Amino acid sequence: MNLHEFQSKQLFRDYGIPVPDGRVVTTADAAAAVCAELGGSRWVVKAQVHAGGRGKAGGVVLAEDVAHVVEEARRLLGARLVTHQSGPEGLPVTQVLIEQPTAIARELYLSLLVDRAAERILFMASASGGMDIEAVAAQTPERIIQVRVHPAAGLQPYQVRRVAFGLGLEGAQIASLGRMMDGLYRLFSACDASLVEVNPLVVTASGELLALDAKVNLDDNALYRHAALESLRDPAQEDAREAKAKAHELNYISLDGNIGCLVNGAGLAMATMDLVKLHGGAPANFLDVGGGATAARVAEAFKLILSDPKVRAVLVNIFGGIVRCDLIAEGIVQAVREVRVGVPIVVRLEGTNAEQGLAMLAASDLAVETAASLTEAADKVVAASAARDASIGGDQSIGGHQ
Ligand code: ADP
Ligand code: MG
Repeated sequence: MNLHEFQSKQLFRDYGIPVPDGRVVTTADAAAAVCAELGGSRWVVKAQVHAGGRGKAGGVVLAEDVAHVVEEARRLLGARLVTHQSGPEGLPVTQVLIEQPTAIARELYLSLLVDRAAERILFMASASGGMDIEAVAAQTPERIIQVRVHPAAGLQPYQVRRVAFGLGLEGAQIASLGRMMDGLYRLFSACDASLVEVNPLVVTASGELLALDAKVNLDDNALYRHAALESLRDPAQEDAREAKAKAHELNYISLDGNIGCLVNGAGLAMATMDLVKLHGGAPANFLDVGGGATAARVAEAFKLILSDPKVRAVLVNIFGGIVRCDLIAEGIVQAVREVRVGVPIVVRLEGTNAEQGLAMLAASDLAVETAASLTEAADKVVAASAARDASIGGDQSIGGHQ
């Protein structure tokens, strides 16, 4: 789960990490009062979306007076912001953060993530902040400083010095960085974060360190013990299909390909995606209906896959253990009756009650192709999606969906 910048900055404040003073508003009318409250004569207006790259996309604007703040807030609120991280449809802006502007001397980069191989929290820092860190990592990896914190020993002063010298900090800035890294490390651990990123971390004109941007991603598997953090969720920023899947207890992740996959078990889902790729196809999603799938849940899963306009063909790959294949077949029949299906479906059922399941599909007058093995299924679905793609040609809005 991702937090908004203003939420991340509030967490930063809670952990003693310096951030600019700011307020979030949901209406342009509220913006003028916020300017008065913050004081000063210039303000930064920042669109709150779960994507970086807002600066380049017009989502971060320096406003010269109150009227300009109100105008920018009005322009951004209710619009969708498209950045290089948001996807082509962009993300809805329902809140803007109004901040005091900072006179920037230098923009640095600092982040924390989990280094799974080392089993430690990793600090990454770079003097090339404010820009795409992936580009720095790809082109000049030697400019990224890495420090791994031992969980028992905690962050050590020599590690802080290594980062500070690497960033070209001096004097009192080194102690400031130490306090900041300590706060970030405590925040990261206490909140069960998966990523905390400060880009840019700035040295102000007067030499102080300030977190000008803040990004916090939380580990979904630990959210059950952070009710307060979970309440910060903004569903409007999340993939609508993924949110719907969560409501039905389905494991669903959107991907870029065009073959919808409905599978039981995460391991089988991975194997299925590998097989699809091996046969030259690309999965449109990862969908694990789980071990205790019922016909109703399978029907929901099926509808979810079909609601994705990218999907050109669907592969159902079920290994019936606890799950009974006849229930899966019932779910498929139910879903296909409710939604008009315009794409080919390939089904491979194996295990408990597979014969009944296949017989039910054959008895229904659905245009479902069955396959006896996973290889055959992958082969068929890739061919079917390619044929479908060719018949549609350049038309991206495929018919046949609800
Ligand atoms: P994003 O990463 O989404 O582009 P940032 O919060 O990093 O958004 O802002 C982009 C740039 O805007 C920063 O690199 C910084 O130069 C400038 N900026 C952001 N907030 C402020 C601020 N409070 N004062 C001055 N400049 C700012
Ligand atoms: Mg940034």
